[in-house]
Amino acid sequence: MDLATSVQYVKGIGPQRAFALAKAGVATVEDLLFHLPLRYEDRRSFAKLGELRPGLRVSVAGEIVAAGLRRARRMTLYEIRIEDGSGRLKALWFNQPYLKDTLTKGRRVVLFGTVERDTYTPRQLMMASPEAEVLEPEDEGVHTGRLVPVYEKLGPLSAKALRRVLARLLDGLPDPLPENLPDDVRARLQVVPRGEAYRRVHHPGEGASEAVLNRARDPGHIRLILEEFFLFQLGLAARRRALRGTRKGIAFEITDRTREAVKKVLPFPLTGAQKRVLREIADDMRAPSPMNRLVQGDVGSGKTLVGLLAMLVAVESGYQAAFMAPTEILAEQHYLTFRRLLARTPYRVALFTSARKGRERKEALASLASGETHIAVGTHALIQRGADFSRLGLAVVDEQHRFGVLQREELRKKGSGADVLVMTATPIPRTLALTVYGDLDVSMVDEKPPGRMPVRTLHRAVSERRTVLELVRREVTAGRQAYVVYPLIEESEKLEDVKAATQMAEEWAAALPGVRVGLLHGRLKGQEKEGVMAAFASGETQVLVATTVVEVGVDVPNATVMVIEHAERFGLAQLHQLRGRVGRGGHGGTCVLLTHGRLSAVAQERLDVLVRSEDGFAIAEKDLEIRGPGEFFGTRQSGLPAFRAAKLLRDRELLEKARCEAFAWLDAQPPGELRPGLLKTFLEQGGWERRFGLSRVG
Ligand code: ADP
Ligand code: MG
Repeated sequence: MDLATSVQYVKGIGPQRAFALAKAGVATVEDLLFHLPLRYEDRRSFAKLGELRPGLRVSVAGEIVAAGLRRARRMTLYEIRIEDGSGRLKALWFNQPYLKDTLTKGRRVVLFGTVERDTYTPRQLMMASPEAEVLEPEDEGVHTGRLVPVYEKLGPLSAKALRRVLARLLDGLPDPLPENLPDDVRARLQVVPRGEAYRRVHHPGEGASEAVLNRARDPGHIRLILEEFFLFQLGLAARRRALRGTRKGIAFEITDRTREAVKKVLPFPLTGAQKRVLREIADDMRAPSPMNRLVQGDVGSGKTLVGLLAMLVAVESGYQAAFMAPTEILAEQHYLTFRRLLARTPYRVALFTSARKGRERKEALASLASGETHIAVGTHALIQRGADFSRLGLAVVDEQHRFGVLQREELRKKGSGADVLVMTATPIPRTLALTVYGDLDVSMVDEKPPGRMPVRTLHRAVSERRTVLELVRREVTAGRQAYVVYPLIEESEKLEDVKAATQMAEEWAAALPGVRVGLLHGRLKGQEKEGVMAAFASGETQVLVATTVVEVGVDVPNATVMVIEHAERFGLAQLHQLRGRVGRGGHGGTCVLLTHGRLSAVAQERLDVLVRSEDGFAIAEKDLEIRGPGEFFGTRQSGLPAFRAAKLLRDRELLEKARCEAFAWLDAQPPGELRPGLLKTFLEQGGWERRFGLSRVG
């Protein structure tokens, strides 16, 4: 039996259960060993029933002295009473009638839960829906009498079955287990051997501490977490190294002519940060290895312009460039901006979205394939379906987080050795940046264009709408303009949603007599949309009621107020983006977060973050803390790796440590091919992708 053995051969599993386990993603012994306990309970001595207090969260043990199933209306209630010699405790479960078959009178049970007062007889204590485990006399040693691991049910295996299976499995493992970390790395990280790590987490010994185990900081946990991060970062490092090592990229030429061309399209002088980042990009583009760079910068820091100038460098060298945006509306906006800025150049810009169909689409694709189109702007359809470039030299991705490491590799293949520039639409906390973008070089646009003023942020309930209306009226009277945003997501703008937005616009118009109110939503046709935007940009429209189409890219410096209806429905990053639309013209700005109804504590906390801070990175960190990594990106296809032992937020500092080690280890390897061995096989034969659940977008 070794780590790669199928779980089918593990004692207590067999072919049938193995099949069910495979469906839960557990195929090998190693997979099973990575099913780590949810928590640990100290069952060397149980809390005495006679000494319990309400509010305690504990495990207790006792004999069932009474048990009964009751039906009340459409519910069933299963109730037991246990005794341990010092006192009694009641426990009850709702709608789990099957418990009557296992939790029977006379048996010994362990219960884990929160002690509370019995609603009906407050002098007595009870637990509602505790976790329960029946103890058989032979269970001593595995299930009790020690620090016991508690597992989440896995396919057909209950928590208790898992404990038994894993205990036996550990006994049958070779000792020591073959190492998968290089010796020097292990020594520097001071981690325990692999086999010992598994033993420590699944079968803690006498000296282990319950508290330390529960924080996942036992040396066993630390070893498994570091191992996981190390292997993941090694894959990133290997990719980065492979890319830098090849000279198969394009060495763009940057001449005086290029510089002239750049000057000609520049609408305003670049900020210092933009200049620095552009220089970093230009250096990459000149080099013969393919560029793989991330540009980070807060909302409004001017990343789009940097992307455009990089594309200009590419087309000046006779190549094509692609600019990929996360949404159709954004693609359209970028398309218009680029066309405007490039109007006095010979370069042709084309738009590719799924809205373009039939002949129009065919012609666009043909001009892309022939090279007639120099710059292609579009959604990610641009790289997925039959879009072929004649000479793609640079792909800029205005990131939608859906592009993980592998997707970027696909993208590069659209051109042979094309340069890739990724720009993040929202600031990404460092922990996530290191995992999702860990293979990229990073540039920071850490300065905003001149004339930006702080934006005051207020949180108001709808009941205070009158004061908000007054604020808007005051600004409009002073010659300024305002946005009112209604929470609709572009792609899902349904007819009834549009109706709601229309009604909202009518209400605002009625509440502000004499003020010119416009309406913008995703259902408007291209031309209508442009008309509405133009009217707002010229000041003809004073208040623009809009769906989230204004989230990014819209730029009207005279607008000083941003009112966000139903702010509780938006994500933090999105609110921050919206707020970034005002405060651009040197008049300062106000953002009002209007909320409807009672807020949950979490919603309140999120809005408070926004009221307190204007720093996109601080907001992103908080957002990550509140929502967790998967939610933060708001999509399953986020390119986030699947970690088994590690948790990104909890284990930040271990991630940094492992990353340093991984990059240093690879740097120390002689140039060229990796030495044959476990790690080479892992990295080069798809093991890395499988291990971290990274798959292609399909
Ligand atoms: P983001 O980084 O959020 O994508 P944008 O690229 O949309 O920001 O830029 C925000 C606004 O700032 C745009 O209206 C853009 O025209 C303007 N801008 C960009 N660079 C400069 C600059 N150097 N000076 C003045 N305004 C600038
Ligand atoms: Mg942008």
